Amino acid sequence: MNDTWAPVPAGSGFGIANLPYGVFTPPGGAPRVGVRIGDHVLDLAAALGDDVFARPSLNPFMAQGRANWSQVRERIRELLIDESHRSAVEPALHPLNTVSLHLPFEVADYIDFYASEHHATNLGRMFRPDAAALLPNWKHLPVGYHGRAGTVVVSGTDIARPCGQRKTPADDTPTFGPSAKLDVEVEVGFVVGTPSPLGSRVATKDFAEHVFGVCLVNDWSARDIQAWEYVPLGPFLGKSFATSISPWIVPLDALDDARVPTPPQEPELMDYLHESEPWGLDLDLALALNGQEISRPPYARMYYSPAQMLAHTTVNGAALRTGDLYASGTVSGPEPGQRGSLIELTWNGTEPLTFADGSSRTFLADGDTVTITGTAPGPHGAQIGLGEVTGTIIAAQE
Ligand code: CA
Repeated sequence: MNDTWAPVPAGSGFGIANLPYGVFTPPGGAPRVGVRIGDHVLDLAAALGDDVFARPSLNPFMAQGRANWSQVRERIRELLIDESHRSAVEPALHPLNTVSLHLPFEVADYIDFYASEHHATNLGRMFRPDAAALLPNWKHLPVGYHGRAGTVVVSGTDIARPCGQRKTPADDTPTFGPSAKLDVEVEVGFVVGTPSPLGSRVATKDFAEHVFGVCLVNDWSARDIQAWEYVPLGPFLGKSFATSISPWIVPLDALDDARVPTPPQEPELMDYLHESEPWGLDLDLALALNGQEISRPPYARMYYSPAQMLAHTTVNGAALRTGDLYASGTVSGPEPGQRGSLIELTWNGTEPLTFADGSSRTFLADGDTVTITGTAPGPHGAQIGLGEVTGTIIAAQE
């Protein structure tokens, strides 16, 4: 028998094959680390008797490294599979609807890549219609920028419409006010556990020694602010007002069956980006606006692998810290229904989306709720749930 005694609803993506980590507050308790099983959270400090989990952050545990991550995962599986542990462990299970969930780790540095060829091509076609869609560097290195770690928030946090400078081609001078082109970006985030020293490089083969797990990311983007400010140094205030992540970090060990080869990479990459068999993840993502699905971006089509993004991050000797988060960039597939942002889905606002109730959208309206969900194939036909990252737009704080 290799299944859990804990209650797991049929079709749940949170069976014994998943066991994602998060930070929760039980009724009357203090924030602590837990693992999700079905619609319950297992209090790890109580179940394992280890104080590293009696903390409001995953960072101390993530800093312990892969050998410990594997050992703890094996121990949790034993406790939840072997009926003999049931009476001791069951009191440490809390129904999900009785706890509150928090940002699962202290975000150290935050990086955002641009690793989807389809997304980069769509934006190139939109903004540089008379030039090649991809810029000359794109197939030689994973393009990225450093974002704002301090404004990464957990799913469920309201997002205030940002104010800033914008200038449309019709304006002679810039104006100030609430963004009129507030957008979403469906992304996947990779969370670093094991640090690396300043002056060293992390090779692609060492990816799994450093990366603890995976979460869903919504890189909220104010397109009008971004368009005016980004030349020549890249994204700044059009991105930094908020980035939402899912509350559950799915460990890499739960995603073994989701590994798929990246699309062919031509021309050949430099040695430091080389992997004999670069692999990505077969994550099925969905984007919903006010409960209606508007896109299904396939992560399997991402051009650069997670290991290549990490190797590129450190090739100049930059150190990794526990809690570093790097996001993939908007996930877009080749089909129109697989685009991971409104700017692509509405072709920069020229093709509005229409909904069953007769309403339509180009960019987000106040009160809109955006939800990204994700699943991956697990062992023996099991499904691995990444949960959801959701957020509601509230009016600008003028
Ligand atoms: Ca992005």
